[in-house]
Amino acid sequence: PIVLNVGQHELYSSSLGHVSVAQPKHSSIPDHSASSLSNDETFVPSKINYSRFINKLSSKRSASLLREICSKLDHLPPTCIKFAIGVPNVLTFPFKKVSVELITGESIELQGEELSIALQYLPSQGYRPLINILQKLQDSFHGPQNWENRAIMVTSGTQDALSKAVDMLMSFNDPVLLPDPIYSGAIDLFKPYDVEIITMKQDSSGIIVEDVKKVLMERKEKMQSIPKVIYLNPIASNPGGTTLTTNRKREIYQLACEYNMLILEDDPYYYLNFGQKNPVSLMSMDIEGRVLRFDSFSKIMSSGLRVGFVTGPKMLVRQMELHMQTSSINASSLSQMLLYKLLSKWGIDGFTSHTMQVKKFYQQKRDHTMQAVEKELKGLAEWYEPTGGMFLWLKIIGLNDTKPLVTSRCLKKLVVLAPGYAFATNYTNSSPYVRISYSIATQEEIDRGISLLAESIREELKL
Ligand code: PMP
Repeated sequence: PIVLNVGQHELYSSSLGHVSVAQPKHSSIPDHSASSLSNDETFVPSKINYSRFINKLSSKRSASLLREICSKLDHLPPTCIKFAIGVPNVLTFPFKKVSVELITGESIELQGEELSIALQYLPSQGYRPLINILQKLQDSFHGPQNWENRAIMVTSGTQDALSKAVDMLMSFNDPVLLPDPIYSGAIDLFKPYDVEIITMKQDSSGIIVEDVKKVLMERKEKMQSIPKVIYLNPIASNPGGTTLTTNRKREIYQLACEYNMLILEDDPYYYLNFGQKNPVSLMSMDIEGRVLRFDSFSKIMSSGLRVGFVTGPKMLVRQMELHMQTSSINASSLSQMLLYKLLSKWGIDGFTSHTMQVKKFYQQKRDHTMQAVEKELKGLAEWYEPTGGMFLWLKIIGLNDTKPLVTSRCLKKLVVLAPGYAFATNYTNSSPYVRISYSIATQEEIDRGISLLAESIREELKL
């Protein structure tokens, strides 16, 4: 007999030629608090009742029967007649071959069966062979993960995954712990929920954990509701450029355990940290199943491929997959297949040496930017040297609001900067900060741009 079982959803069972379709058993959130213990020390989901975290709307989502069937087709014998699936026939598509030349001189070619897969819908969780490679990637950078209890879903960039996570977790007026400054694409996800923002201030080592501890203790004493979620962009943060130290990560993880919170570890600059060693991730500390980790290929392979992936407790990733089934169905199949081919060709070593090259590129840009800033902005601005990534966060001395500086003075000189208020958590409209991205400017443009910024600040402050 062939039995197709997908977690909580028993889909098809076939015996002696008779095939019956079973409806999903239930669409409610399974309670992991009763699940059995695993021998693996990396993550034992014994304590957490994830239903506490999932909002009403998300808990109403049930699995799409046809998507589930689609994800199981590979398990059927090739002779199976696929009448059930409403996919177009790839024979009608105008592509015969996709050929990509790599900067290394190697090439990737998609044709035949692989091209058919790349041109077709995929299971919503992603292309299985790619997921297998991503698991190896995570094991090799973050220590062996317990894939019995953790899962990966491939998404259209990290933004897609973040958006699905926020839509799964947040309810109106929920308290939430957010860093200040914060990635603008993150705050814009939280704001529509009218969340009660508990701001986490930062210094050169990232979030100041003592403050977070104090706030949580006070809320507990006053019997105020405790946030369910902490959002962090821990490495080479956007826009701050700072990196959260491993000790502080440990303390934050401890707090998450103590107060029963989940951590959203948004880490697209992980591979662009300028440190000597690979940073320790929150996921690698996660023995209770409290971390949803967001990785991106945007900064190291191509932002246009739109591929990222979320790694986390199986139950939460599965819940996000239900969102995927009804939103974009799956992240681009062509992009996933290209990445799969690339990563299988390069292996972890080839991938690592590529990311080292990319890191070097940005480090040189950072170094050049710092020289220009030291020369032109001393006394006019304050900053921390970026620890990775592509952003320098400048506090303009003597200005409460950089909007006029950015939108008028600098723009007139054709220097385009991001005003600080776009990264504020407190719904404010003014900020003394500006963000400089040194990613695409040439050395000459960096020199000229910083010099024109200095000139604009002097004009604005009438110095
Ligand atoms: N998180 C942060 C902190 C970012 O800076 C970005 C990109 N600007 C994203 C998420 C989104 O990245 P992706 O291209 O993978 O969607």
